[in-house]
Amino acid sequence: MRNFCIMKNGQASCCNNLNDLTKIITVIMKIADNIIQKAFRFRICEPSEIVQANLEQTLNLCRNLYNAALQERRDAYKLNRISLNYYDQANQLSEIKQINSEYKDVHSQVLQDVLKRIKKTFKAFFNRVKKGQAGFPRFKSPSRYDSFCYPQSGFSLTGNKLQLSKIGTVKLKLSRQIRGRIKTLTIKRECGKWFAVFTVETKAEPLPKTNKTVGLDVGIESFVTLSDGTRIDNWKYFESSQKQLKKAQRKVSRRKKFSNRWCKAVKQVKKIHAHIKNQRNDFQHKLSTHLVGEFQTIVCEDLNIKGMSRGILSKQVHDVGWSSFFQKIEYKVANTNRRLIKVSPNYTSQTCLCGHRMKKTLSRRWHNCLKCGLSIHRDELSAKIILLLGLSGQDLTKAVGL
Ligand SMILES: [Zn+2]
Repeated sequence: MRNFCIMKNGQASCCNNLNDLTKIITVIMKIADNIIQKAFRFRICEPSEIVQANLEQTLNLCRNLYNAALQERRDAYKLNRISLNYYDQANQLSEIKQINSEYKDVHSQVLQDVLKRIKKTFKAFFNRVKKGQAGFPRFKSPSRYDSFCYPQSGFSLTGNKLQLSKIGTVKLKLSRQIRGRIKTLTIKRECGKWFAVFTVETKAEPLPKTNKTVGLDVGIESFVTLSDGTRIDNWKYFESSQKQLKKAQRKVSRRKKFSNRWCKAVKQVKKIHAHIKNQRNDFQHKLSTHLVGEFQTIVCEDLNIKGMSRGILSKQVHDVGWSSFFQKIEYKVANTNRRLIKVSPNYTSQTCLCGHRMKKTLSRRWHNCLKCGLSIHRDELSAKIILLLGLSGQDLTKAVGL
């Protein structure tokens, strides 16, 4: 039995390497051809009762399969120290369909994609283990499993009508034209609403060259300050949405846990969260597209660098979502001929343009240099220093001409 497993794994790993190699070659060819991936997300109009039931059922079966596959991998590892791979599990799919005929009502590639998700989850888990971080993959409750994917086929789009294999036809609110070759389709449920996300492959269109450069500083007062002094605040309804959220959260904490009224309040909080997420995404997309269009080189702080944790905490990174903003700039830059440079955030707020270093508490918003007499808003100064740092190859002494 043991020999059989080793042989089976050996074969599969050889197959894996070959697959990896093909993937790498495909990626290289795409880069050479300037081919990029884009996502288009559309709301699905209120589906009919039958389609709605089919969507729910598919999502539920996918979740059950996910949890079962996770259980199998856990058991195999805990009991026999064997790590199962994708092929070991995918080979069982036809048998699963024989035993549980409900699975015959789900497109086969959708089921395979669930097992590929497990594969990715475990890959991430083993990477975490290597780094010494714990955290075994978790079983998914209905509220934590919200999408399934057609990785190649099983769907077709004609006009705004989307035909889903084994589910039915739905109408999309097509807010823009899909450009490029459609590769995958993910059906997602968010706060009781359904969405279709298409990933497409398309040719990157280079932007006209410019000499303009910019440094970005993220701060407490404004969302981001540019090195030319422009300050950009959060979106228009940020404050009122935050107030709404706080009010709804207070309601949850006041009500008796798991009571009807409590459930209602929790639903409300989720709804506001989703709304804020949409607003934030919209705001960040518009701003990042604008910056990438305007500037050839963009320099920002690398928020992932350890050692600035105190700075990070005081800047409440996660609340405002700078990381996701920088991520958006990063992939938009990758899709064009622009450049993004990330610099170490150490001392960017303590150094003057003349090179003089002075400690400032966070509450001190204005920089008055004792050496050169420069008087400037601290965030604008930081943005200028960040830009200099990026353009000088990350050397602070060189940047400020010491
Ligand atoms: Zn100075």
